[in-house]
Amino acid sequence: MTTTVDAAPVAVPFVEKAPLERYVAPAKPSLVGMTRAELTEALGEIGVPQAQRKMRVQQLWHWIYFRGLRSFDGMTSVSKDVRAALEQRFTLERPEVVAEQVSVDGTRKWLLRLPGEVQGERPHEVECVYIPGTERGTLCVSSQVGCTLYCSFCHTGTQRLVRNLTAGEIVGQVMVARDRLGDWPGGVRPTDGVVPSGERCVTNIVMMGMGEPLYNFEAVRDALLIVSDGDGIGISKRRITLSTSGVVPLIERAGREIGCMLAISLHAVRDELRNELVPLNRKYPIAQLLDACRTYPGASNAKRITFEYVMLRGVNDSIADARALVRLLKGIPAKINLIPFNPWPGSGYECSDWDQIERFSQVIFDAGYASPVRTPRGRDILAACGQLKSNSEKLSARERLALRAMAMTD
Ligand code: SAH
Ligand code: SF4
Repeated sequence: MTTTVDAAPVAVPFVEKAPLERYVAPAKPSLVGMTRAELTEALGEIGVPQAQRKMRVQQLWHWIYFRGLRSFDGMTSVSKDVRAALEQRFTLERPEVVAEQVSVDGTRKWLLRLPGEVQGERPHEVECVYIPGTERGTLCVSSQVGCTLYCSFCHTGTQRLVRNLTAGEIVGQVMVARDRLGDWPGGVRPTDGVVPSGERCVTNIVMMGMGEPLYNFEAVRDALLIVSDGDGIGISKRRITLSTSGVVPLIERAGREIGCMLAISLHAVRDELRNELVPLNRKYPIAQLLDACRTYPGASNAKRITFEYVMLRGVNDSIADARALVRLLKGIPAKINLIPFNPWPGSGYECSDWDQIERFSQVIFDAGYASPVRTPRGRDILAACGQLKSNSEKLSARERLALRAMAMTD
C-alpha cells in the first residue's frame, strides 16, 4: 500500500535507516577516550605489573586529559620503558581536522576525519561546533556519523551513512577543540575569532551535534564521564547537556549512569504533528516521553530539563500551541528553549516570523517559564542547529519521502 506523507498516522512500525557496520578500527588504538578500567587493561597488555597499574593510570590520566599531551615523550613522570612500550602499541591520536571555518560571529566549525577505515567508503567525517560567549564557550559535539532517525526539519537526518562514534571519537572532539583553542594549561589562544574572557575556552558541552546520543548510549556515557572527571578535563555535569529526540527507555538510565543535564527535542504538542516532525514519536508518544521526564533522576527546580522547540512558520508556532505547551509541561521542572528554524536547501520549511516567535515566547514567559530564544549562531558557515552534515551521500528528497511514507504504512 502507498500513502502520502500527509496521511493520518495509524499505529505503524517505526522505520530506521540501517547503521553501517563495515568500520575497521585502526590497528594501533588511541588512548584518548579510554576509561580508567580500559587504561588499566592497556597497561596490562604492555606488561606493567598489576601493583603499579593504578598509579600509572593516574599519571596517564593527568597527561592525557589534564595536560592534553599529544606525544608520549612529554610524560616525564612515566618511566622511559613504559613510555616506549606505550608508543609501540598505542597512540594519542584524535580525529584529524580537515577544515576549520570561523563565522563572522566567532563561531567555529571543524570538519573532523575519524581514524579507522570503512570498507568501500571514504573515511568517515563528523562536524563539531564551538560557540563562544563573553564568559562561556559551548562545544556542540556529535555522537554519530549521520543519524538513523529522520526528523523532517533536520539536515543531519538526510545523511545516508550512519555509524556510532566510539567514546574516543566523542572525547576526541573535545580534545581537538581544546588543542585548536589553546585550552590546555599553558596553551596559546587563537588570534582570530572570539574566545570567552575566563580561564577556559570550552566551559560547556552540548550533545547536540550529529546523531541521536541515546542510540549510542555506552560510548556517550563513557565519553561524558571522562570529560566530567575532575582529575582531567573537569567540565562539571551541570555544564553538560544531552539532547534527545525522545528515546524513552534510556532516559532514566542516562540520568542514573551519566547524571548530566537533559534536553528534549519536543517541537510539537500534539502526537499527530510530532509524528510527522520527529518520527520517533510513533514509537514513544508525547505522554510517555513526559512521564520519563517527570521521573528523570536529579531533575529539580535547580536542575531543570530543557525543552527544545524549533519554530516552524505555520506548522507549530500558533499561540494555541504555546498555551498547549505550557499546559503540557505543568509539574515538570522545565526550561523552554525556542530555536528559530535554520533553513537548509530542500527542507521545505520556513522559520517563523520574528514577531510570532516573540508572541509565542511571551505566552511562555507569562506562564512563569524562562523562554530564551536561541540566537542562531554560525549560520553563514552552516554550523547552526540541524545544519550539520558531513561529506557523506545524502538521501534524495524522494528517498526521504519514501522512508517517511513507510513509517506510516503497515
Ligand atoms: N539528535 C538529538 C541531538 C542533535 S539535534 C536531538 O534530536 O535532540 C540538536 C537540536 O537541533 C535538536 O533539538 C534538533 O531538533 C534541533 N534541530 C535539528 N534541525 C534543526 C534546524 N534545521 N533548525 C533548528 N534546529 C534544528
Ligand atoms: Fe537525528 Fe536529532 Fe536530527 Fe532528529 S533532530 S534527525 S534525532 S540529529
